[in-house]
Amino acid sequence: MSVLFKRVLIANRGEIARRIIKTCHRLGIETVAVYSEADAAMPFVKEATTAVCVGPAQAKKSYLEVENIIQAAKETNSDAIHPGYGFLSENAAFVRRCEEEGITFIGPTAKAIELMGSKLEARSQMEQAGVPVVPGSDGRLNSVEEAVELAEEIGYPLMLKASAGGGGIGMKLVENADELTKAFDSTKQSAETFFGDGSLFLEKWINEPRHIEVQIAADEHGNVIHLFERECSVQRRNQKVVEESPSPYLDEELRKKLLETAVRGVQHIGYTNVGTMEFIFDGEKNFYFLEMNTRLQVEHPVTEEITGLDLVELQLQLAAGEKLPFEQSNINKDGHAIECRLYAEDPKTYFPSPGTIKRLVLPEKARLDFGIEEGTKVSPFYDPMIGKVIVYGEDRSQAIEKMKEALGQLEVEGITTNRPLLYDIMENADFKKGEYTTKFLDEFQKQRK
Ligand code: ADP
Ligand code: ADP
Ligand code: MG
Repeated sequence: MSVLFKRVLIANRGEIARRIIKTCHRLGIETVAVYSEADAAMPFVKEATTAVCVGPAQAKKSYLEVENIIQAAKETNSDAIHPGYGFLSENAAFVRRCEEEGITFIGPTAKAIELMGSKLEARSQMEQAGVPVVPGSDGRLNSVEEAVELAEEIGYPLMLKASAGGGGIGMKLVENADELTKAFDSTKQSAETFFGDGSLFLEKWINEPRHIEVQIAADEHGNVIHLFERECSVQRRNQKVVEESPSPYLDEELRKKLLETAVRGVQHIGYTNVGTMEFIFDGEKNFYFLEMNTRLQVEHPVTEEITGLDLVELQLQLAAGEKLPFEQSNINKDGHAIECRLYAEDPKTYFPSPGTIKRLVLPEKARLDFGIEEGTKVSPFYDPMIGKVIVYGEDRSQAIEKMKEALGQLEVEGITTNRPLLYDIMENADFKKGEYTTKFLDEFQKQRK
């Protein structure tokens, strides 16, 4: 039996549930899967030590139903809950419920989630810590008139953003007062619907944007370290599709400055467990804090590949109150890693393509974090990401070649996937040179048509 925890409940599904199960079982920790009625036949349900159905297909009534999850944890005598990403992972009320029940939440404190879950609050915290934030409005916008007035001061183009937003939802690029006026109510509405909070603010739209983020880890004894950066500028609808580490954009000097800044910001808020500081770079090597994700990130495998660490194991150790098992000077990176997110969607329109996977041929020389197998029914109820292909190379060009080989071998029949798009990205000259911004994918799609 592990000294960390005896039994961990995983409040998530698909590839990330399987990923967490793998580490728990390696460490001798039992796992409890919770699943919706739609997910009863999914691989993660079979692989966990035990499984509990927590409700119908709609996430609101199952994966997001706090009391059902807590009940499942109590029934199974789970001593900890791992939330994965999405769902309840950044829900402070859920963390408080875990605390009340004496169940360890594998993540930061409720207070830290509250602080960083609000983009407005996070901006103000980071300003206090001397971390540069994207120029924008300081408080929530109370009216469209106020927004238009502030917009004149900051200057267009601007990003109108929901303070509680996530997953690329709740933000709108606006070029002028007319567009801002038109977008205001609908963005507020969608923020209310998706996040239960309609607070909006404005950010200057950064030109030639590159999304580069820093993985950090912090213990309850005041130690904070970084685990280098991830470049995530290949995006569709402000959501990541391909990620890599290290970033081809950074030289050693700029990297050092970025990593130090991220650590300083995290120290300021007294954060614990793993987390990600997201930054946006302009074309002139300036960078600004975007937001912090207070959880394990989808793209954490690229960090694991270049550092040799297991981030889920680290999360378990930190949640159990252990000290960081290493110091900054012991963390080294080696080689280059790339991750491609495989989506069950049309590669041109990005429309989801649910259905049954009739045939699946997996590549041999790649890390595959997949939620599905042959015969799995991809449900329309959840995020269309069905898996991730991760490769490691001695350098970037070798990693690209390995990714091409892996994607070339991958065959998924029965549903439409973005596999061909991912393959073409690996062959693109700008991508190969490492010269791309968050505008890359949109522009690339126009050429492809
Ligand atoms: P990461 O920030 O880890 O790269 P994403 O931004 O793509 O990941 O979000 C992680 C996952 O969580 C996605 O699959 C997305 O569907 C889901 N997600 C993130 N935030 C939200 C949210 N606020 N509401 C619903 N789903 C979300
Ligand atoms: P989410 O919580 O949905 O992840 P983020 O604030 O992290 O929202 O932004 C998601 C993506 O949207 C970024 O990675 C970037 O591509 C784009 N984006 C966000 N803010 C800006 C900005 N001010 N200027 C340019 N692009 C932005
Ligand atoms: Mg983000």
